[in-house]
Amino acid sequence: VIDRILIVGASQAGLQVAVSLRELGFTGSIALVGDETHAPYQRPPLSKAYLAGKATVETLSLRTPEFYTEHGIELLTGTRVTALDLDAGKATAERGEQLGFDQVALTTGAQVRRLKVPGADLAGVVYLRDLTDADHLAALMPAARSVVVVGGGFIGLEAAAVARAAGKDVTVVETAPRLIARAVAPLVSDFYREAHERRGTRILLDRSVASLTAADGRVTAANLDDGTTLAADLVVVGIGVDARTELAAAAGLTVDRGVVVDPHARTSDPRVVAAGDCTVLPHPAAPGQLIRLESVQNAVDQSRVAAATLLGQQAVYDAVPWFWSDQDDLKLQIAGLSMGYDHVVVRGDTEKERFSALYYRDRRLIAADSVNRAPDYMVVRRALAAGHTIPAELATNTDVSLKSLLRP
Ligand SMILES: Cc1cc2nc3c(=O)[nH]c(=O)nc-3n(C[C@H](O)[C@H](O)[C@H](O)COP(=O)(O)OP(=O)(O)OC[C@H]3O[C@@H](n4cnc5c(N)ncnc54)[C@H](O)[C@@H]3O)c2cc1C
Repeated sequence: VIDRILIVGASQAGLQVAVSLRELGFTGSIALVGDETHAPYQRPPLSKAYLAGKATVETLSLRTPEFYTEHGIELLTGTRVTALDLDAGKATAERGEQLGFDQVALTTGAQVRRLKVPGADLAGVVYLRDLTDADHLAALMPAARSVVVVGGGFIGLEAAAVARAAGKDVTVVETAPRLIARAVAPLVSDFYREAHERRGTRILLDRSVASLTAADGRVTAANLDDGTTLAADLVVVGIGVDARTELAAAAGLTVDRGVVVDPHARTSDPRVVAAGDCTVLPHPAAPGQLIRLESVQNAVDQSRVAAATLLGQQAVYDAVPWFWSDQDDLKLQIAGLSMGYDHVVVRGDTEKERFSALYYRDRRLIAADSVNRAPDYMVVRRALAAGHTIPAELATNTDVSLKSLLRP
């Protein structure tokens, strides 16, 4: 019998494991242990509405304080688990607390990659991963005039959009030759460059920050590798995250840029499941390849599977991935994984900032990026879930509804 389940990491994934365990009828004890001081909250608004001052801490909370007591979930905040002894069924926390368990769920998430250049630790250089970071950034924003964003990924661009909308002089510096290169096709990258430029943001590609200059201990400028110097009283760094695997690795679990799990969210040890940003999982369409998905959808859906696996139930993670990003009034929604596509078609009008890019492999639809075209996104998401496709040559005609084009 399993009486005690320990969940390490109290955020989107950890909370979902706890919730799903109760939904599946588990009546034993659940300890949800997290090292942040806040109860689980949503991260996505940190670079969007919250940073823009349009959301409060209360609205970020994933559950009310009563929820935890009502569902018998013992939430321990401000507690970092430092060691797991799987054979003894014991975890040790930072201040020496001992936590017994029969099984474990690891939902330790990810941590930001740090900028490693001279001046990177100056005041005015900020990251964006947790509420503390967001509060810090929001406090510095009003007085800032020139903002340099390091990294042209989703978080960097979202922060840039908020800063620009607040009237700041904003420059995004991206090392790659295009924006959001890991996630979208070149035409979508180009669209975002132009859309940000139209709004007055400077986008510098193929360039890196080589060092930061200070006056009185505060950042004043960013010096790029091509010799350019940009005035900067605020530097926002968004250069990606790494999975937090230290605990898993020390416990002897297989780790490969993330905690390696199978489609049941099981790690290399049958007593341990893992879910969310800390994991790498088999790519659904590319056997043998491990991918890391950094999204709310993945955290939630994989955690549901992890909970079922803990209870010995058969569950397989095969949900269609989805994601979103809000940059100014551009609402991007992504369905599916475009990785490995061989053809892209555009439906709608990039000039009018309302279009979808549909991705194909071997003539079958595999993913779509929709900008301000939510209905397209919905149809594609459902099509992928049902194993349907949409002929590429017909999809570009916006006079015909996408739904009417679905084919088995
Ligand atoms: C600014 C921002 C914007 C985002 N926007 C979007 C978006 O628009 N759409 C989207 O789908 N996703 C977005 N994401 C990503 C999404 O928030 C993550 O995918 C999601 O939070 C992953 O949840 P998780 O629980 O796996 O990991 P995390 O949220 O990283 O949580 C892991 C938790 O575990 C804790 N922890 C780690 N190790 C230990 C330990 N040893 N002991 C105790 N606690 C520990 C950490 O402190 C943390 O609280 C965004 C993320 C950020 C930061």
